[in-house]
Amino acid sequence: MFTMKGEWAKDAPPQLMILSGAGLSAESGIRTFRDAGGLWEGHDIDTVCNFDNWRENLTLVHGFYQARREAAAKAEPNPAHQAVARWQTRWPTHLLTQNVDDLLERAGCADVCHLHGRLQDMRCFACDHDWEHGLGPWTVGEDACPNCGNTDAVKPGVVFFGEMAPEYRTLQRAMDSLRPRDVLLVIGTSGQVLPVARMGLEAPGPTILNNLEPADAIPDRCFDHCVYRPAGEAVTKVEALLERYLD
Ligand SMILES: [Zn+2]
Repeated sequence: MFTMKGEWAKDAPPQLMILSGAGLSAESGIRTFRDAGGLWEGHDIDTVCNFDNWRENLTLVHGFYQARREAAAKAEPNPAHQAVARWQTRWPTHLLTQNVDDLLERAGCADVCHLHGRLQDMRCFACDHDWEHGLGPWTVGEDACPNCGNTDAVKPGVVFFGEMAPEYRTLQRAMDSLRPRDVLLVIGTSGQVLPVARMGLEAPGPTILNNLEPADAIPDRCFDHCVYRPAGEAVTKVEALLERYLD
């Protein structure tokens, strides 16, 4: 995939970069913050995933992510996740997602870069230890960091508002590595967090956007192809475009 310098090998065949967001998992029943009006059980979302004050709201924070993990555990990959897994076996693919669920992996995808972290991970800020906790419960005051035993400095491994997202460097490297014959495919993201419009304009090769509907932040002219329908229903059309450019 990448060479040591973080670029596609110069003579490599056409490659595919996929960036996905909430719209990919929507048909699996995973709701977004915006669907809920920015509230969770009456609490402002900004209170339960804010890097500046998460330790002051520890019970709320873990309660919120507990609910997210339970929802993810019940959800199943949908046809769009399965299509991405299929495309990854057909073409050299770099796969990046803003989603914190594990539905791409459960559909069979490998090497998924989770730009905003993963629901099943925890991080201890007392000893800087990261580990996979899984989708099971976490009880504040009882469950502890497996490395140092701390119980009040453990944060869900999801990137919070106001927190650095280290994997953005991977995203930038992937963008910088695109050549004129490589395809950029963006699925299910409104462009309010990542500069999707700019990515579409700057990619040197063919670009495809699949969103449920046009988004203010992403004018149609930023992408060569805009497919506006649910990700699962867009698979056939998107796959035909990929075959045109990549086969
Ligand atoms: Zn620790």
